[in-house]
Amino acid sequence: MTTVHAVETFDSLNPATDEVIGTYPVHSADEVQAAVDRARAAARWWESLGFAGRAERLARWRGSLARRLPELCELVSRETGKPAGDAQLEIVLAIEHLAWAGKQARKVLGTQRRAPGLLLSNQAATVEYQPLGVIGVIGPWNYPVYTPLGSIAYALAAGNAVVFKPSEYTPGVGTWLVDTFAEAVPEYPVLQLVTGFGATGAALARSGVDKIAFTGSTATGKKVMAAAAETLTPVVIEAGGKDPLLVDADADLDAAADATVWGAFSNAGQTCAGVERVYVHQGVYDAFVAKVVERAKKVSAGADYGPMTMPTQLEVVRTHILDALARGGRALVGGKDAVGDRYVQPTVLVDVPEDSAAVREETFGPTVTIAKVADMDEAIEKANDSVYGLGSTVFAKRRGLELARRLRTGQTAINAPLSFAGIASLPFGGRGDSGFGRIHGPEGLREFARPKAIARQRFTVPLRLTTFPRSPRTDALVGKLIATLHGRR
Ligand code: NDP
Repeated sequence: MTTVHAVETFDSLNPATDEVIGTYPVHSADEVQAAVDRARAAARWWESLGFAGRAERLARWRGSLARRLPELCELVSRETGKPAGDAQLEIVLAIEHLAWAGKQARKVLGTQRRAPGLLLSNQAATVEYQPLGVIGVIGPWNYPVYTPLGSIAYALAAGNAVVFKPSEYTPGVGTWLVDTFAEAVPEYPVLQLVTGFGATGAALARSGVDKIAFTGSTATGKKVMAAAAETLTPVVIEAGGKDPLLVDADADLDAAADATVWGAFSNAGQTCAGVERVYVHQGVYDAFVAKVVERAKKVSAGADYGPMTMPTQLEVVRTHILDALARGGRALVGGKDAVGDRYVQPTVLVDVPEDSAAVREETFGPTVTIAKVADMDEAIEKANDSVYGLGSTVFAKRRGLELARRLRTGQTAINAPLSFAGIASLPFGGRGDSGFGRIHGPEGLREFARPKAIARQRFTVPLRLTTFPRSPRTDALVGKLIATLHGRR
């Protein structure tokens, strides 16, 4: 196999220190295409292994990730700036997803019998889910292991080969993942890496892969979808969110405040399903805000979470805070001086108009707005008044389930923050500007497979319907049969 080496390169930096962590090639469209071509042969081999063969090899890779956890934690921490404990949390969850996908693939995607119905009762009807072929995965930097693996693990378990383009901010983590996979599965390049900037991702979207799984901003998601449309390539889009948290009058306020502070500030707020807006029942508003403020004051950028991974994000966060303050909002913690050169201190905003950027646009920083509502109907109305619809959280004793069902988001956690993201059997995805399609769970496995329906005739019947010599007697019989079966109401 010959590999053409890219001339152009780029550096990956530690966002806390600007130390160069590694230098990576900027892969051209031709190199991306070559990787996709190599993946075709790999995909055929990978599919031929069957569920058991793939599960065994995915378990080998999982074992390697688990044994080398500290090494990967250190790399994630250096490349994103997040504390090692947070790096470990995302990797642990990713390993859990990998385990689930590998073990459940046969059950979810293997041959299933379907009822053929009375008229065709001489047929055996089955459906099986076959791999799509080659999947292009375009990943972000905020959770450089957990997020891409949400697609990669499920795509691989479903029998596909993958070409992975990590964010330009986390190519080192991407390289580490692909290298360890190659150690576990040395025979064919079933999981390959292409690195570079947006243009490399765009080339992957145009390369004729069988599906693109994109995680990132809504704006880039639209570009990816437009590029994929040129080759009629289907896409799954996991875009951003403006996730609300609701606090009902009977909620455990300590737990709700704790979830708000962690959900809003952990990972410096760079979480697609992080808490960005809170709506609190008027009866508990003051007590809840006091608890959030008390906890938020103990959280500090640099100690509890890292710097902003992407330097340009600092300006977005600053703009949202300043706009909120200029329009009558008050910062109870943090505020206009919270945004530094690399780090952003926790910021709790109240009295922010609902039509301001801090409430409507994805901030992706350690800020949160808290608003008082007359009742939970108003909370639902305001929470749902968003172009986004990714995740949401409800704190309530009595009405938790009812409120969760009424929230227009792909997933809702009740009485705990972000719990849905750690449950491998639950699908994850958005609606509206948060995207569409699902990763994780059975739905995530099926996202990377195509249903193949097979009807096998087991024996012939006198009542032959699909033949030209079909007799008028047969037609009359069928008519009577249907009238008896369906015509009673
Ligand atoms: P992007 O959406 O720009 O990037 C996500 C991925 O897409 C990266 O791998 C990126 O590569 C790649 N990419 C960029 N342009 C193209 C293109 N034209 N075609 C194909 N792929 C492309 O997000 P950013 O990293 O710039 O972050 C911007 C904002 O996106 C954040 O502020 C946040 O609001 C949101 N975001 C949401 C995430 C989520 O989990 N839902 C994750 C990350 C960001 P490269 O990095 O090399 O440009």
